[in-house]
Amino acid sequence: MTSGAMNSASDAVPAIVIEPGKKGGAQLGAVAREPITAGSVRLAVQAVGVCGTDAEICEGLYGQAPAGERQLVLGHEALARVTEVGPGVESLAVGQLVVPIVRRPCQPPCAACSQGRWDECLTGNYQEHGIKGLHGFMRQELVVGADAVVPLPEALAEVGMLTEPLTIVEKAVERALALHQLGSGEPRRALVTGAGPVGLLGALLLLCRGLEVYVVDRRPAGSPKAQLVESVGAHYIDDSATPMEQAAPTGGFDIALEATGYAPLLFRALSALGVNGVLVLTGVTGGHHELDVDVNLMNTTMVLENQAMVGSVNAARRHYQQAAQDLAAFVTRFGPAVPALITERVPLSQFAQAFDKAPDAIKSVVMVAEGAR
Ligand SMILES: [Zn+2]
Ligand SMILES: [Zn+2]
Repeated sequence: MTSGAMNSASDAVPAIVIEPGKKGGAQLGAVAREPITAGSVRLAVQAVGVCGTDAEICEGLYGQAPAGERQLVLGHEALARVTEVGPGVESLAVGQLVVPIVRRPCQPPCAACSQGRWDECLTGNYQEHGIKGLHGFMRQELVVGADAVVPLPEALAEVGMLTEPLTIVEKAVERALALHQLGSGEPRRALVTGAGPVGLLGALLLLCRGLEVYVVDRRPAGSPKAQLVESVGAHYIDDSATPMEQAAPTGGFDIALEATGYAPLLFRALSALGVNGVLVLTGVTGGHHELDVDVNLMNTTMVLENQAMVGSVNAARRHYQQAAQDLAAFVTRFGPAVPALITERVPLSQFAQAFDKAPDAIKSVVMVAEGAR
């Protein structure tokens, strides 16, 4: 029937879809429009950031479609606006800017998930939008539970898609500072390895926490990343010109945030720690890497200097709330350096461009909503 055909056309929501496990198959497709239900909200997606996770899913390395489906909608770093509020929702109004939470609790919830700590899920049966068992956010609209979004201030209309990557940093820095606080001293100096989105957001957060920050990468002095680091008041080390061991201040670092996922850097960052120093790891890379490491020296130093090394993944609701607050503080304190983290904005139809990363690129964003900034 004609009306049926028209309905099905308007019920199709444009989306970037992939077939999990298949290499290079990301394409502009569509998913069915979801009905609004009690306790849920409809979101118009404004923009979605692209990261290494998306690239690896496109490579077919991982990714899992929702149960019974063949395709997965990509994307997990979203900025969205509420367009419809389901029955019983009182915490959100139409027009509210929000960030949807990526990871959802396992079912039935484990001891961690039942406390809202799905980031510490004990079973591994959690789901993640755009990654594992739930459609992602690179689609024009979606319906989610009102408890699965966090409101953002309107001041983040331009950069709010950085909230989700900042949640990763919030949790990592929280863990590092908590471990450091077991000791007696105030943390003063921080090392960040990698001037990508996580590293740079980490640098901004550590500056806001009152630390002196050193960012190490392999782009030359004067390059856009180096300039950005210096413009916010952090020190930049080009490791390819001066190894960070030489450029590091005497006494070493109290906190080190490893944001490259390049495993050999882990040992270098560990040896750059000072007494009572904490290294927190946030990145992973696939493959296999063997190294000659003096584990006796590593063991001795870690024991005699009360050092700690800790991994950190993902984020709970309170990290989203903290990230929303801190990202707004970044905009106030660092001004143009915050939107400068977004080095590319492409429309949904040209999403593939966002996956081609130039060495000076930081965060590429797919502008999903027509007319979105
Ligand atoms: Zn990401
Ligand atoms: Zn769980």
